[in-house]
Amino acid sequence: MTQEELFKVLVAHCKEYGYIFPSSEIYDGLAAVYDYGQLGVELKNNIKQYWWQAMTRLNENIVGIDAAIFMHPKTWVASGHVAAFNDPLIDNKDSKKRYRADVLIEDYLSKIEDKINKEVEKGRKKFGESFDEQKFRETNPNVLREKAHYEQVHNRYVAAEQANDLAEYKQIILDCGIVCPLSGTKNWTDVRQFNLMFSTQFGSTGDDTSTVYLRPETAQGIFVDYINVQKTGRMKIPFGIAQIGKAFRNEVVARQFIFRMREFEQMEMEFFVRPGTEMEWFRNWKENRMKWHVNLGMGEENYRFHDHEKLAHYANAATDIEFRFPFGFKELEGIHSRTDFDLGNHQKLSGKKLQYFDPETNDSYVPYCVETSIGVDRMFLAVLSNSYKVETLENGETRTLLSLPAPLAPVKAAVLPLVKKDGLPEFAQKVMNELKYDFNCQYDEKDSIGKRYRRQDAIGTPFCITIDHESLNDNCVTVRERDTMAQTRVPVAELRALIDSKVNLTNLLRNL
Ligand code: ATP
Repeated sequence: MTQEELFKVLVAHCKEYGYIFPSSEIYDGLAAVYDYGQLGVELKNNIKQYWWQAMTRLNENIVGIDAAIFMHPKTWVASGHVAAFNDPLIDNKDSKKRYRADVLIEDYLSKIEDKINKEVEKGRKKFGESFDEQKFRETNPNVLREKAHYEQVHNRYVAAEQANDLAEYKQIILDCGIVCPLSGTKNWTDVRQFNLMFSTQFGSTGDDTSTVYLRPETAQGIFVDYINVQKTGRMKIPFGIAQIGKAFRNEVVARQFIFRMREFEQMEMEFFVRPGTEMEWFRNWKENRMKWHVNLGMGEENYRFHDHEKLAHYANAATDIEFRFPFGFKELEGIHSRTDFDLGNHQKLSGKKLQYFDPETNDSYVPYCVETSIGVDRMFLAVLSNSYKVETLENGETRTLLSLPAPLAPVKAAVLPLVKKDGLPEFAQKVMNELKYDFNCQYDEKDSIGKRYRRQDAIGTPFCITIDHESLNDNCVTVRERDTMAQTRVPVAELRALIDSKVNLTNLLRNL
């Protein structure tokens, strides 16, 4: 499915079932800003819980904070965002559409990779069992030609990035014949830099000194609170500070649903370590974070690391965890070794000591830091796009299904009286009362049972509990499992334990 097709289907599904709405939709929406509806907020909260508990409960040396969105403007000078938080943008003069020049080139490069992979697949089909992929990649003339082209463009791109050479970006776009997907032309403007931070006025004086920024990342709140947490929490290095909160970026391209938003949410953790040990911790967190993802059961093959060749101004090692979205592998989480860049600069600019006295080595230093940073919304999209399925049933009908990891599902169980009479609704209410303290449950008595099952499949409810006339005699109910549609008869007294075994977040955390 292409990105556009997928977004169309998901946007419609999310809206129809109360997962996500365009922001201020009655005024035709606001580009790249979205609201989470009644089910979306539950899924989002469950994702955040999974992350928060994994960080702060499973690691005795990680604590959480909730810093303010507004920060002293000097924060963003120290962090480098005022000077360097820019995207290279380019406009197509015919379609009047704006693009990120780096993204146009990266998309071009991944198309070459696709071509190479298609060649390999053709070879695999042709040669069958005797196919030697490595040899094929090293000798097939078509693959070699594409590879050489890839390397040539890639090297130019990396050099342009490193030199911040905007004219070279444009030249690469022209030389590769990259066209605007809308107009199909190569009629491009020059490439310009664009700062992504939103600014606003603080207080009522309205002069320049009152300009503040909406934070473009949550990390800086952690850095400026570092010394307070270290001292009051009596934290010993190595230790981490975790935070979940909103971030704001005036993104150039705003056509990617919740993949790239102007207001979004991040889950960030800064892990402070002794200088010289950061690479060990960087590897450690790479492994730890990958485990967290794979543990959700969405397929190990859908994740990969992408190590950075060009490092951000603050990093000495960096990797992305990429997820296989239906429109290709894209960044889901970033892991950076940020050195002492942030704390060091805050120390310089604020004039406050941010050093740590290490009782083990008997010396003082500004700690180094390894960061893990994941977007809640991007994680939401990963979970949603991986779970969305349209299945054809044996009778030829189709059902739309969200096979969400059960502990993340917004509604854990639906309680459904077969008919709206004969005491079944009353019995169902009793079941609701039994379960509602532990699980988010939905009661539904409208429409045929088949229709109700479909509605629950479409929102990803792991269990449907049906109460029929027999239930009044044997105190048993029918439990239908979402993915297999298998039905079993279960005594009401055993319901809680059965549901809990599948949906409990604790079990998921225990596997980490
Ligand atoms: P990209 O290259 O996609 O712009 P980035 O490298 O700028 O992302 P980071 O600054 O490393 O992203 O931010 C950490 C995480 O925050 C990302 O991995 C992503 O999950 C999330 N994120 C960043 N920008 C956005 C956005 N505009 N909308 C939604 N999530 C975002």
